[in-house]
Order: sequence, then C-alpha cells, then structure tokens
Amino acid sequence: MEFLPVFLDIRGRKVLVDGGGTVAARRVERALDAGAHVEVFAPEPEEELSILLGRERLTHQARLPGPEDVTGCAVVYGASEDPARDEPLHRWAQEQKVLCNIADRPEFCDFITPSIVDRAPITVAISTGGTAPIIARILRARIEATLPPGFGRLAEFVGAFRQRIMEAVPDAGRRRHFWERMIEGPVGDFFLAGDRDRAEAQFAADLEAERGGEGHGEGEVYLVGAGPGDPDLLTFRALRLMQRADVVLYDRLIGPEILSLVRRDAERIYVGKRSRDHVMKQEDISDLLVRLAQEGKRVLRLKGGDPFIFGRGGEEIARLAGAGIGFQVVPGVTAAAGCGAYAGIPLTHRDHAQSALFVTAHGKDGVLDLDWEVLIRPAQTVAVYMGLGNLPVLVAGFLRHGVSDETPIAVVENGTLETQKVVTGTFRDIVAKVEADGIKGPAVIIIGTVVRLRDTLNWVHHGSRSRHLDIRPGNPMGV
Ligand code: SAH
Repeated sequence: MEFLPVFLDIRGRKVLVDGGGTVAARRVERALDAGAHVEVFAPEPEEELSILLGRERLTHQARLPGPEDVTGCAVVYGASEDPARDEPLHRWAQEQKVLCNIADRPEFCDFITPSIVDRAPITVAISTGGTAPIIARILRARIEATLPPGFGRLAEFVGAFRQRIMEAVPDAGRRRHFWERMIEGPVGDFFLAGDRDRAEAQFAADLEAERGGEGHGEGEVYLVGAGPGDPDLLTFRALRLMQRADVVLYDRLIGPEILSLVRRDAERIYVGKRSRDHVMKQEDISDLLVRLAQEGKRVLRLKGGDPFIFGRGGEEIARLAGAGIGFQVVPGVTAAAGCGAYAGIPLTHRDHAQSALFVTAHGKDGVLDLDWEVLIRPAQTVAVYMGLGNLPVLVAGFLRHGVSDETPIAVVENGTLETQKVVTGTFRDIVAKVEADGIKGPAVIIIGTVVRLRDTLNWVHHGSRSRHLDIRPGNPMGV
C-alpha cells in the first residue's frame, strides 16, 4: 500500500480550489459536502461551477490566488489544468505545510482523491494508488450496485442504539454478535423494507432476550458450498457468512484464494480428506461442528462445490439437527457445472443429451458399484466425480456393456482454476492421454457426445485453460 487511507475532518475549515472548470466544480462540491468553507479562484467560471456559486459556505474570487490565500487552509486543490498556475500553488502549499492536491500532477500531490460511494453516513473510498483511476470507477459502480441506498440510513438507525446495547451487553464478543445479528437479521430487514416501527420493536425484544441471557448463546453452523475453485464463483451469501464466522473447518478442495476471503481473525481448522487417507473421520468432523457451536461460536463448514452433492452435507446436518443446533446451508456451483462451463462442454444439449447424470466412481479395489443399465443410456451425459483413480475400470465397464469405443470423453482437472487442464479423447485413447498429461486430480470425467461441442463452439484457448470470453462468469456484481 503506497498511501495511507484517512478521512479528514474539515468541517468549518478553509479549503482553496483553484480553477473554473469541471474538475474544480467536483472538488468544490465534495469539500462543501464535507462541511468546509470553500474559496474558489476562477476569473471565468464555467457552467458547472457557476451553478454552484451562491451555495452556502462558498466564496468566489474572480482572480488568481496568491500565497496569502493558502494561509490557514486545511487543503489546497489545484484544478485549473494550467501548469503555470499549478507550480506556484504547490510551492506555497509546501512552504506553509498545507495538504495539496494538483489534478493530474502526481508529483504535486500530498494525497490522492479516491472514488467515492456516498451512503451517508457511510462512505466507501476507493483508490488504485493513482495507477488506473478507471478501475476505481468500475469498482465504484459495482459497489453502488450492491449497497442498498437505505444502508446509510440503517447505520444511523442502529447507531442510535449504541448506548443501550453497551449497557445491556457488557461482553465485547457477545456484543459484536448482537450487532451483526441486528444488522443482518430481522431488525435490519424490517428497517430496509421501510418498517421502522417494527424494526424498533424487534430491537427492543432482541435486547431484552439478550439481557435475560436467552440471546443466541448457542452458536450456529453455516454449511457453505464454495464452488469448484475460482473465487468468482462464490455466492454473495457464501461470502457474507465467510466474513461472519468465528471458526472455519475446510477441506482439501478449498484453495488459498477462497480461504483468504474468510474473516481474518477466524480460527482455521483443516479437516481435509483424501479418498484413501482420511485426515479426520466424518463422525469426528460432525462432532467438532457440534462442540464448537455449543461453545457459542459461529462455525463455517466450507465445502468444495455444493455441500449436498457428494459432500456429505446431509450427514453433517443430521448430526446438527440431532443436537438442536441452528444451521443454514448455502448451495455452491458443483464441480461438474463449473468444469463444464470453463471447459466449453455444455452438460445437456438438445441435439446430444437430454439428461445429465452425476455419479461417483469411488469404489474399492477397482470394483465399481455402479448401475450400468442407467449409465449406458443413450442421449445423456455422465459426469463422474472422484473417478480418476478408477478411469481404466470405468472405461472397461462401458465397453463391456456394449458402448462404442468412439464415445467422446473429457477429463477436467482443477476445473475453473488457473491450473485447469482439459484432456479430451475417446474410450479408446483417454487412459493413455490422461497418463501422458500427468493428470492427478481433482478431476471430473465427462462422458458423452457433448464433449465434441468443445471443438465447435469457438473457444478461446489460453494455454491449457480454455474459456469463452463472453460467458466467463467473472462478473459477480452484474456490472
Ligand atoms: N461437493 C463437491 C464434490 C466433492 S467430491 C461438488 O459439488 O463439486 C470431490 C470430487 O469433486 C473430486 O474428486 C473431483 O471429482 C470433483 N472436483 C471438485 N473440485 C473440482 C475441480 N475444481 N475440478 C475438477 N474436479 C473437481
């Protein structure tokens, strides 16, 4: 980080703006909004500035500034876009130790002006360190789109309860939970829906419950699907709960990029499983979830893909329900969907496959317990999870059941990640190709004629990773 972000209190203080054009008008506006007394120097003010003249706390000087005008200022803005005016202005500011910003002259700036999302009293300021302001603007548009306009008012509304909460809930940890539950729970929901009275009543009831010790002393468990790997594929809800958790239990499939989005001070517990050497037994994981929640923690159980697709999520919630612990389940993009999209293979297609079957080929000692009658049906796609180790057995099984050795098959390793590899072939050559390419997994195996579409759909190839630019889901905010 090259700059220190701070929010200056300039209420009632003097701010000098030199210039009469659009840039100057923006600076004037922002300084006025922040409560400053603004003096603008513009011999010939243009339209945007002229509209502002006459506003309270704004003085217009139809001349150029001198050193004496800088005296006593909190901030000086050079916005004339005239180098002959910039240079002395910067010098006077330096001599008098006044913070100075000259538009488009980084060498004359003590600070940079961020892009702003204004949800007063909430302000989001974005900086790219002066390198690429356009990125800041794009980012701003995204944040604007996701932050409800009422959010600032919500902050004011709950802010008024501060003292009462402080007195009723002396413990800092419990207090933080109370705040979060209030803002993200029914109180916040009622307020944002415009029902202030109900929000107030709900708050009073929640506070009473908390004071009486009936507040959420028990923790809860969030069973969250983190998708196949690309952090862009997380849901908003997944991200929100990741930011709220006190402790996270995660698998081998959860990469560092996703883990870095979990609340920084949350405790991390690795419960990774490999198909044969289990680091922690499923029962032990379920027990641990229960124990942590009973300690009052908000426990995040982060799972690759979707928790209910080969994720044993069902077993974990059964245990939680049995222990009377509150939980919520957040779906995620399952590996087959992610791999299909990022490898350019539609899992269904009207000309190729009317159904897609998700199966696991995780049998012991090369014996697969699969329903072959169902697997070999025509006009369907079969996506196989945990099947890489048994690929030869799988292929032999299809052939034994009379399926053509020309059947297209793809193996997608590390789908959706930078390291994604896609190997395509037929039952005849896939085993050799996968071995030659050193594929180790995790991998999804996709079987069916849809695999051929990959070549016809005009995919953009970046090394081993292929993505179609138009549908790449790299745009979670919809901007
Ligand atoms: N719940 C997960 C699946 C867990 S089983 C989901 O919905 O995706 C683990 C198997 O998922 C792996 O053996 C592999 O077959 C598949 N898998 C998970 N992530 C993958 C990825 N990024 N690329 C390819 N396969 C993946």
